[in-house]
Amino acid sequence: MSTPSPDLLICGGGIAGKACALALAQTGLNLTLLGARPVAQALPPEHYTQRLYALNAASRQLLDQLRVWPHMPPERIQPVQAMHIRADGAQLAFQAQDARADTLAWIVESDAIEIALDLALRFERRVQIDPAQAARLQHLPGGAGWQVQTDDGRALQAALLIGADGEHSLVRKASGIPMDVHDYMQRGVVANFVCAGPHEGIAFQTFADGGVIALLPLAPMQGQNMVSLVWSAPELLAQELLALPPDALAQRVDAHLPALHAQHLGPLQAAGNAAAWRLQRQLARRTVAPDLVLLGDAAHRVHPLAGQGLNLGLQDVQVLAHTLQQRPTGQAINDARLLRRYSRARAEQVLALATATDSLARLYAAHSRVPAPLRALGLNAANAFPPLKQLLTRYASGLPYLA
Ligand SMILES: Cc1cc2nc3c(=O)[nH]c(=O)nc-3n(C[C@H](O)[C@H](O)[C@H](O)COP(=O)(O)OP(=O)(O)OC[C@H]3O[C@@H](n4cnc5c(N)ncnc54)[C@H](O)[C@@H]3O)c2cc1C
Repeated sequence: MSTPSPDLLICGGGIAGKACALALAQTGLNLTLLGARPVAQALPPEHYTQRLYALNAASRQLLDQLRVWPHMPPERIQPVQAMHIRADGAQLAFQAQDARADTLAWIVESDAIEIALDLALRFERRVQIDPAQAARLQHLPGGAGWQVQTDDGRALQAALLIGADGEHSLVRKASGIPMDVHDYMQRGVVANFVCAGPHEGIAFQTFADGGVIALLPLAPMQGQNMVSLVWSAPELLAQELLALPPDALAQRVDAHLPALHAQHLGPLQAAGNAAAWRLQRQLARRTVAPDLVLLGDAAHRVHPLAGQGLNLGLQDVQVLAHTLQQRPTGQAINDARLLRRYSRARAEQVLALATATDSLARLYAAHSRVPAPLRALGLNAANAFPPLKQLLTRYASGLPYLA
């Protein structure tokens, strides 16, 4: 059975796919969003869900523009005013004013973003939501685009196929675009905790033998101060941490509070179970192919130590929407010159971030060849040089990469 389809098809309904559907619909395009299922009707009122993201200013700008941000509950969004990084006895501190901004980032639940995206999509008549998964993909000759076989037996056709289908992207595999992969042999262990003292909007991070430990500030929940842990731990340690009962994990994190210079937060109290994700750097060698675009984790995955993976995906969306909207009248949306423009516009930021996070992960890995005193010297020097901090903070905001 063959179903007529619009010109544009997005495969993958995670945050990047849903945001892309809204952004392209706002430019006047009609499209199908494949593999999109609503996550939940509402957030649990009494606790935070496990997945939380630090969103930067560029992501906030996009979600505002898509009328998604105003539908996220403000009482569950925590602005980050400062970030304190400690390692080898040295420190690097960023303040929001380093970037001449009020806020460095915002900590938001993944489900809060998705619920607001689902709501906005319900009112977007240009987007047809199709919950089916893509099962097989075929490039059609003569600029006719792609044919997508769904897992429920339908065939859809589109002039332009957008792969927003995450780390195992079927779209990327079908396009034949090679990918460079580096396995960090680590897992990102996440868990939420009630803390004894106020975090004052500060994100704490330390590089230790046991990996990279970050405590992100959360908005108060039922009057209690809260933080979210992201512990990028070597595989064996991650398994050990995951096997601990929640209270024992809280005690393990307590033991690292002095290294984080965050003793005032302890003792921590578990607020739910831990979860973990395997950490890899994945970079697609190209982000476009004939009649096809990759974005989000389908195109790149980076180490979470800078909290930038989803931000990169949302900036892909922003740049793609801008590129398609600015095309001259009469130019087709699958024109190779147009797709190359998107690809060129995204290359620098993605490579810069992947390289920076990768270098930091290696620099502080247990087997690093750089001696600790030299690393400490570098961190203290960076801390004492405001123009560098201003530059790093500005780039972390994502704003310089937007059109
Ligand atoms: C521990 C950890 C902490 C992180 N913290 C941060 C942070 O603070 N800030 C930040 O910006 N980023 C962070 N990230 C990165 C972030 O999680 C990812 O970059 C982001 O979730 C990727 O979103 P996506 O929509 O591109 O992909 P996904 O979320 O993987 O979505 C892909 C979607 O495609 C669908 N799909 C897959 N195959 C098909 C198919 N064949 N047909 C149809 N649909 C399909 C899937 O079901 C899914 O819905 C973190 C990552 C980790 C591991």
